[in-house]
Order: sequence, then structure tokens, then C-alpha cells
Amino acid sequence: DNSVPKPPTPSPLRNSKFFQSNMRILVTGGAGFIGSHLVDRLMANEKNEVIVADNYFTGSKDNLKKWIGHPRFELIRHDVTEPLLVEVDQIYHLACPASPIFYKYNAVKTIKTNVIGTLNMLGLAKRVGARILLTSTSEVYGDPLVHPQTEEYWGNVNPIGVRSCYDEGKRVAETLMFDYHRQHGIEIRIARIFNTYGPRMNIDDGRVVSNFIAQALRRDEALTVQAPGTQTRSFCYVSDMVDGLIRLMEGDNTGPINIGNPGCEFTMMELAETVKELINPDVKIKNVENTPDDPRQRKPDITKAKELLGWEPKVSLREGLPLMEEDFRQRLGVPKKN
Ligand code: NAD
Ligand code: UDP
Ligand code: UDP
Repeated sequence: DNSVPKPPTPSPLRNSKFFQSNMRILVTGGAGFIGSHLVDRLMANEKNEVIVADNYFTGSKDNLKKWIGHPRFELIRHDVTEPLLVEVDQIYHLACPASPIFYKYNAVKTIKTNVIGTLNMLGLAKRVGARILLTSTSEVYGDPLVHPQTEEYWGNVNPIGVRSCYDEGKRVAETLMFDYHRQHGIEIRIARIFNTYGPRMNIDDGRVVSNFIAQALRRDEALTVQAPGTQTRSFCYVSDMVDGLIRLMEGDNTGPINIGNPGCEFTMMELAETVKELINPDVKIKNVENTPDDPRQRKPDITKAKELLGWEPKVSLREGLPLMEEDFRQRLGVPKKN
């Protein structure tokens, strides 16, 4: 489209011999679950310098401890609802609580993070000419009336519900991304992430996989299947997710592109049975009440990711759960039975 204005060129200093790296990358929310795995992958490339900006609401320095003090790494305590001045080439914008109990805890703060936080990161991208990737969510499809969900589907979202700070917040964040792209020529990438799991998830963040694994490992707890138990999610292992995010950033497509694992669609009852079988055959399963606006089914159509990014997930739930179990055992101090 010829009408899209050119973004500003990066500072000439970026090419100077005083810069040791070829690429300086900002990761907002980099102390969180997905963010810290992304940082590990980016740091593995010696040409990258990584700056993390995080307010530690749901993330922790512990997730990044192996990088603290590394010459190519910098960690800033920063809230993205405030302006940020740094010089970078790429921005992975992840900052936002992802688990319902955390994003509902301070709903106003969640929507500020999504709207003002994304606006600030776009202002930053505009000033320095950086490419910016937003981690949006399958929640933009709401309680979907189309299954599986393609990127063309506009969604079925309640604008005034208890989840709206998150799903409507992400929808506005996507709108802002496209408006900055059309109006200012910013290079944008939008990933719509479907349920992701793996090591370093918060143990008590209330998400289903972390809940079930912690419940299976602690004594005297039952797996809490929320009613009706027939609702589905498709679970993507975190290494596959990070791979998809990097391919999206490096590729030529703005998105939005679904990233998730359609091969791992499970009902919550099936997930409970699988966790029971793999982790603790003695654990009980109990039915509990659900929360409002819970989507009944969710599964990505990943045709676009396959065609445009050459990406597809590799890790099945049966392979991924034991990797997460090991991490949870260590953090909960529960030794493996022989
Ligand atoms: P997480 O809660 O582990 O990580 C989010 C990080 O952002 C944390 O480190 C937190 O401290 C930080 N943060 C929150 N508000 C901030 C603020 N105002 N300023 C600075 N930092 C702030 O969650 P995650 O699972 O790693 O999710 C990362 C991103 O992926 C989020 O944008 C989330 O919406 C998106 N996403 C995740 C999933 C999933 O299944 N995990 C699904 C869809 C979308
Ligand atoms: N911004 C930022 N870092 C920058 C440049 C801008 O955080 O390096 C913020 C800025 O404070 C503003 C937002 O990004 O609130 C949007 O910036 P833009 O330049 O698009 O809008 P304006 O400042 O003109 O309102
Ligand atoms: N869920 C459950 N037991 C739990 C936590 C969640 O059955 O202990 C269900 C919840 O009702 C929802 C699904 O698991 O249908 C996924 O919930 P989660 O909070 O992990 O993610 P999201 O709703 O954002 O997809």
C-alpha cells in the first residue's frame, strides 16, 4: 500500500563499531512465563542484546537469574503504563497479566496496561523506528461461535464482563497496532496466542494446567474440574510458542496470526484424566463451580502460521506435561517416586 508512510530510519550509531550486537531487543513482560523463555532463546544468539522491562506484578527476577549480570542483558523495573525511553531495533510487547485471577484482581490496571502500555510501546517504536510484536490472545474471539477459530473471525466478546479488561483490552491493543501501522508506517506483528503451558508458570496462578499439576503433586488435594468439564482448550508447549513468536517477528507478515496447538484440544475432564494418569494415579477429581463468561471451546486454525511462517507445534501434551511436572516438583519440593 503506497499510502503507508515510511517509518523513521534508525540512528546511524546503530551501525557503529561501538555497538557490539547487531540487534537490540526490548522484551516487555520478560520476567514472566513466556517472556523469560523468549529471553532465553534470544540470548542464545550472540548477536542479540536484550533489555527486559517488567514491573514484576506476575513475573519474577528468578525467571531471569541466569542472565542477570550478563554483558548483553539488562533488566529494568518499569511499568509500561509509564513512558519508556530506550533505543532498540525490535520490541516484543508481552507485558500484561495473563491468568484470569491476576488480570481480574485489578481490572482497571489490566486495561491501562493493555491500552496505555501498548500506546507507549507504539510511541517508542515510532520514535526509534523499531519493529513491534504484540502478544494478543485467543480471548479476542471471546466465546467463539466459529470452531476452530480462524484469524478472519471477529469474535463474540462481552464488552462489560469481568474478563473484558483483558479481552477487550487486547482488542484495543490490536486496533492501536494497526492504526500506528497505517498512520505512521510502524512495522507491526500480532500473534494471537492460544493456551500455553510449561515450566516457570506461576504455581498458584489459577490456570488449569498449573492448577492440575500442583494439585496432583501436593498431598490431600483433588483436581478441580470447573463445570461443566466438557469445555475445551488447545494446549501449546512454551518452546513451540517461543519458536512461533520469533518466526513471526522475523517474517514479513503483520498478522494477526494464531499460534497454538490444534492437535492438543482437550476437554477439562480429559485433561484431568491425563494429569492423573501421568503424574499421580491416586489423585481424586472433583467438580467445582465455574466463573462467568468461560469460553466453551477453543482451538486454533493454524493454516496461516503453517503457510506464512513455516511453523507448526512439535510437542504433544503427553510430552510437555512431564517437563512441567519436573519443574513443579523442584519448586514445590516434592521428590519423584521411584
Ligand atoms: P505472565 O503473567 O507470566 O507474564 C506477564 C509479565 O508481564 C509478567 O512478568 C508481569 O510482571 C509483567 N507485567 C504485567 N503488567 C505489567 C506492566 N504494567 N508493566 C510492566 N510489566 C508488566 O504471563 P504469560 O503467560 O507469560 O503471558 C505473556 C503474554 O502472552 C501476555 O501478554 C499474555 O496476554 C499473552 N498470552 C498468554 C497466554 C498463555 O496461555 N500464557 C495466552 C494468550 C496470550
Ligand atoms: N512514548 C514512549 N517512549 C518513546 C516515545 C513515546 O513511551 O520513546 C510514549 C509517549 O509518552 C506517548 C506514547 O508513547 O504517551 C505515544 O507516543 P506518540 O508519539 O505516538 O504520541 P504523542 O506523544 O504525540 O501523544
Ligand atoms: N479450569 C478448571 N479447573 C481449574 C482452573 C481452570 O477446570 O482449576 C478450566 C476453566 O473453567 C476453563 C479452562 O480450565 O474452562 C481454562 O482456564 P484457564 O484459566 O487456564 O485459561 P483461559 O480460561 O484463559 O483459557
